[in-house]
Amino acid sequence: MRFEKLRLLGFKSFVEPTEFIIEGGLTGVVGPNGCGKSNLVEALRWVMGESSYKNMRASGMDDVIFSGSGGRPSRNTAEVSLFLDNADRTAPAAFNQDDTLQVTRRIEREAGSAYKINGRDARAKDVQLLFADQSTGARSPSMVGQGRIGELIQAKPQARRALLEEAAGISGLHSRRHDAELR
Ligand code: ATP
Ligand code: MG
Repeated sequence: MRFEKLRLLGFKSFVEPTEFIIEGGLTGVVGPNGCGKSNLVEALRWVMGESSYKNMRASGMDDVIFSGSGGRPSRNTAEVSLFLDNADRTAPAAFNQDDTLQVTRRIEREAGSAYKINGRDARAKDVQLLFADQSTGARSPSMVGQGRIGELIQAKPQARRALLEEAAGISGLHSRRHDAELR
């Protein structure tokens, strides 16, 4: 699967509907300080299942909703959709009949957030596993936040092992085994 497009509606500073086409070979996003580069990366992490608002530079998950600026009123919802190209048919079996996958996460003020995969309700865990199986996701080593490099270098062996497992695309298996053992 390949990231194709990211669509933001009312997420952080992206109050106007915004679509980013993610073309092959994209190597950088440039722009002046405060223009929304980090917000963009956070939107990508959020739609892939980030559960910690602290990792979103927020003091509560509702902080990802546009809070108003320059005379524009705040919003009550935010929505991010990630479109995935599945031409290579590597999506999980449940979705593999489709050429494109659309993963959407929507949050409403004081009401929490919900996910959909191709228009159908999904659990956070379904979304997290979908990306973990592709060796990516909100916490994966493919998304290294500012200031995390030092953390990776100083990590204890256990944490470093978790990192290698994520890179190898097997962290989803651990999560499934944990569930199976609980049953
Ligand atoms: P830098 O180059 O300094 O790293 P950046 O391009 O990464 O900048 P961001 O951190 O993505 O910039 O964007 C910061 C801007 O987003 C600030 O102006 C901040 O006010 C705005 N912002 C963050 N959260 C919200 C929100 N919930 N509602 C409205 N604006 C927000
Ligand atoms: Mg930044």
